[in-house]
Amino acid sequence: MPTIADSMNTMIRETTAPCPHCGKVLPAKAYSFGGSSRTIPDPCDCPGYMAERKAAEEAEGEAKARAARMEMVRKLERSNIPRKFWRAPIRRKDALDTVAKGGGLYIQGENGRGKTELASAIGVQVLRAGKSVYFASAVEIKGALFSTGYKTETEQQLFARLSRPWLLIVDDVGKECDSKPVVSMLYRIFDERDKNERPVIVTSNFSKKELTARLAQCGDESAARAIVSRLFGMTRKVEIAGRDWRIPAKDERG
Ligand SMILES: [Zn+2]
Repeated sequence: MPTIADSMNTMIRETTAPCPHCGKVLPAKAYSFGGSSRTIPDPCDCPGYMAERKAAEEAEGEAKARAARMEMVRKLERSNIPRKFWRAPIRRKDALDTVAKGGGLYIQGENGRGKTELASAIGVQVLRAGKSVYFASAVEIKGALFSTGYKTETEQQLFARLSRPWLLIVDDVGKECDSKPVVSMLYRIFDERDKNERPVIVTSNFSKKELTARLAQCGDESAARAIVSRLFGMTRKVEIAGRDWRIPAKDERG
């Protein structure tokens, strides 16, 4: 491994020096740097030297792994994926495969079936694969559009924040009665993402028909139809129905 001395070309001479572990006389290089000098023997083949080198390599490997873990935590924090789902298991491998290939998902099911958990778990895997992910609840998007008082971002900045990441997760669409500006913003985001072939994962309690009705309540019917049609065109439906999958299934044959 090159040292500072190498890079500054301050090696003064070839010499010999004893191995600090076994005492064997080895070829060595004598360096002078900043008024002091140092003699470094070449690698030895004795067990003491080998053990020291192995320990140094392990320490370096651990430092790299630690740095990678910290970088992953920073990415997870920036993604806004809820912390409680960072270690959630992938319960639907088929859903992860769809997203990995660039396809979107519409995860539908009642509360407590693990829709947000599944969407988040997929988001974490996409992040680990080196792609950008952003998680937002529909309520947060509404809040960002209608925040009173000091606005932290313009509508354009919100649009950019939700359009740029490779994967966008929008949680709980249709939960609240969404007004026209919210429906219009969601439409623009889905449209932009579709054009750029960036997938979206939407979770919702509602079927296609129910969602259209929900969005039409406070917006208008044609806008609601347009957004739902666009959304279902760019996603595959994953239905989480029946019993809660976190409760082990009973054998019902008997
Ligand atoms: Zn030695």
